[in-house]
Amino acid sequence: MDEKFEIILPDGTIFRSKKESIVQGFDEEGKPKKMKFIQKTECDRCGQCCQLDTPILLKEDLPILLKGYITEKDIYTIREGERIRSRIDGEIYDASMEMIKIKPIFGTSTCLFYDNAVGCTIYEVRPTVCREFECWSQNYTITGLEKRRLTRADLFRDIEILMQAINTHEKKCSLNQFSELVEEYANGKEENFDKIVDMFLFDQAIRSWAKEKLNIQENLLPVVFGRTLFELASLFNLIIEKEGENFIMKVRRTS
Ligand code: SF4
Ligand code: SF4
Repeated sequence: MDEKFEIILPDGTIFRSKKESIVQGFDEEGKPKKMKFIQKTECDRCGQCCQLDTPILLKEDLPILLKGYITEKDIYTIREGERIRSRIDGEIYDASMEMIKIKPIFGTSTCLFYDNAVGCTIYEVRPTVCREFECWSQNYTITGLEKRRLTRADLFRDIEILMQAINTHEKKCSLNQFSELVEEYANGKEENFDKIVDMFLFDQAIRSWAKEKLNIQENLLPVVFGRTLFELASLFNLIIEKEGENFIMKVRRTS
């Protein structure tokens, strides 16, 4: 690309420069830097997407779990109605259905399987959505998600008592209901205080029961019952603060 490149200005003068793919850009610190346009047509394992969010798992990913590349300790459940941040526009949405995701590295949004030095540590067997994601074509959609997504029923359907516990927890601690109660409480419906507290108590009690009676390990609870209401409360604008021997409940008003 070294032929002449011309721009005819409004006053008729002609600006000529060498046609080349080098353009003026900026480095990470904002300093001017000569840069090139290049075409990206396949994943070069840069790791950007792995640091933005973690992938959800689909039914076709079950063999990776069964073979132990990803274990139940590496995943957690997003429950229906849970507030999640979209990797596409960064906005917060209510999950319209249950999904199972890989956990992030604690305190970050980076996938548990991402290593700064080597990139994805399970690249050869990475989940389907990682394989299907094409950053270069802006293809963010997962077709047929509702049918393809992995659910807790796929993992635990043979353990009847656990499925019963999961269903009971969903009824007593439904996140859609939690959201409604908190919103009404924020708008002055004080009688909802006890109902919200009951949900917190049930959420804790069923986890303790599962540990004691079913020998479920602590690090499996996020996939069995999702994240605790304590962890999720602030996403619903409910602030829980410890004051002496007590917890204080406050509502953050958004408007
Ligand atoms: S899909 Fe794109 S952003 Fe993700 S690792 Fe590959 S090249 Fe990087
Ligand atoms: S599984 Fe691998 S490719 Fe997929 S987000 Fe995690 S580190 Fe990236």
